[in-house]
Amino acid sequence: MTSLSESLQFQLKACRTLPSVPAVVLQVLDLCQDDSVSIGQVAKVLARDPALSGKVLKVANSPWYGVRSQVTTLERAITNLGINATLSLALSFSLVRGLQKGRSGFDHQSYWTRCVICAATSRVIAELVNAANHEELFLGGLLQDIGILVLNEAVPDSYSTIVEAAKGDHAVLAKLERQEYGSDHADVGAWLLEKWNLPVDLQRAAASSHKEVQDPEGLSIFSKCVALASDIAGIWTQSDAIAATARSRAKSIRLFGMSSGQFDTLLGNIAKVLPEVTANLDISIGGEDFVVRVLDQARGALVELSLQAQRTVHEVQLQAQRDDLTSLANRAYLSEVLPQLFVAARELGQPLSVLFIDIDNFKLINDSHGHQGGDNVLASVARVLRLCTREFDTVARYGGDEFVILLPNTTEKAAADLSKRIQTAVMVHPHVIAENIEIPVTISIGCATMLQARVFSSATELIEAADRCLYAAKMGGRNRVVTLDKLEETPTQIDERDLMAFQRKFESAEGKMLGKS
Ligand code: GH3
Ligand code: MG
Repeated sequence: MTSLSESLQFQLKACRTLPSVPAVVLQVLDLCQDDSVSIGQVAKVLARDPALSGKVLKVANSPWYGVRSQVTTLERAITNLGINATLSLALSFSLVRGLQKGRSGFDHQSYWTRCVICAATSRVIAELVNAANHEELFLGGLLQDIGILVLNEAVPDSYSTIVEAAKGDHAVLAKLERQEYGSDHADVGAWLLEKWNLPVDLQRAAASSHKEVQDPEGLSIFSKCVALASDIAGIWTQSDAIAATARSRAKSIRLFGMSSGQFDTLLGNIAKVLPEVTANLDISIGGEDFVVRVLDQARGALVELSLQAQRTVHEVQLQAQRDDLTSLANRAYLSEVLPQLFVAARELGQPLSVLFIDIDNFKLINDSHGHQGGDNVLASVARVLRLCTREFDTVARYGGDEFVILLPNTTEKAAADLSKRIQTAVMVHPHVIAENIEIPVTISIGCATMLQARVFSSATELIEAADRCLYAAKMGGRNRVVTLDKLEETPTQIDERDLMAFQRKFESAEGKMLGKS
């Protein structure tokens, strides 16, 4: 499992002051090897260390274990906690106590604060995701950074420079270690735990605790709990709690697919146990006020993160439903919205009008002004359509030079009047397609209205009726509106004054174009 370079292994092996296992831990570890260990045996070893037994009793009486009656004997405490849990706890306590002394100049307080938060967090995650071995996970969290102590003893000079350069950012620390030694403290920690003969779960969890997890499925649930705890601990230990929240939230999704609500619950549960756990291990992290203040900050960041995520999803959805050229709704959006409006109109007994619009002789515009010129006309017509309609009308590009407008709660007469206004507006609008080039554009409109007296069996049938009207408008000579009730009659002629205005525009546009060439 060791993945350290030979030169680093050489330096580690040559070091005479590597963290060693406290005597009582050795005895506890011996017990761990024995499957048939009894409660009496464990109690006997622990009883030799009054401080340690006191801690075990304290934990057995803590609210974490849902104690109902006071536990006063070690045997009872071990029965309540279970042998494995007691062994893991005993290991945790004696390691924190035994390893606090070390090379001077190293910030032991910060180091152990982070370890204890990782430990409590691993355990809380284990509860939330229903992992087995809660106490072993406490130990896994506690030991995941032990490689830092090893590097600090084995290569003190270069390591102190690295620690200083990392400025308290744990991820940066691991990156600098990899640059300098080819391995980070996670690899080094796993190496030590292997040397100590600790369970493989603990070794693996330490090894993977700081790796960018490419393949989360390849990790055991034990390693996942420890890896997530490593990032979450940063919320309480790093200067930028908000960045640490974002990083750990992303990891919670990657490793466990956690929802925002679950992650919020997780942070709340961690904050609840931190004061008690740190006090049990004689680590000071700044009191309950500090824990709650950081929790509030993290929760604020979490709300902001989920708003950002929602905004992104919404924007992606909008983008997928928008036509790039005209910024109008696209056909996909139309086919989603029209059936909804159709059903609503039928249920409410309200009219629903649909306009089918097509630019006249658009191919000619493409031919004489190029595809870009044609595109500019499409965008320009789209702007006019949007300007002529209400905010809650749906204006969509159906495809090519065709547009569809949905007019909820709009009678046949109102839709016909609006169609006429749109037709005129497009005709008189200065469609500038290039610098100094303005061209006349006309459209034909087919208008169909669903009324209580004129029922359609489906939204498709309604839009097809509008299309038939449009066809009649084209057949009738273009630049006109045909409504369903006039479908069989002579197509509507446009107003004489509109026609003259169109004529004037066309002439002046032609003049401008000539002037340019
Ligand atoms: P009509 O009056 O009968 O509608 O004649 P028309 O020339 O407008 O005929 P039609 O509506 O069938 O022509 C549509 C043309 O639009 C055909 C196609 O080359 C062109 N077109 C389709 N999509 C685009 C586009 O995104 N940009 C441009 N510039 N042209 C397009
Ligand atoms: Mg056309």
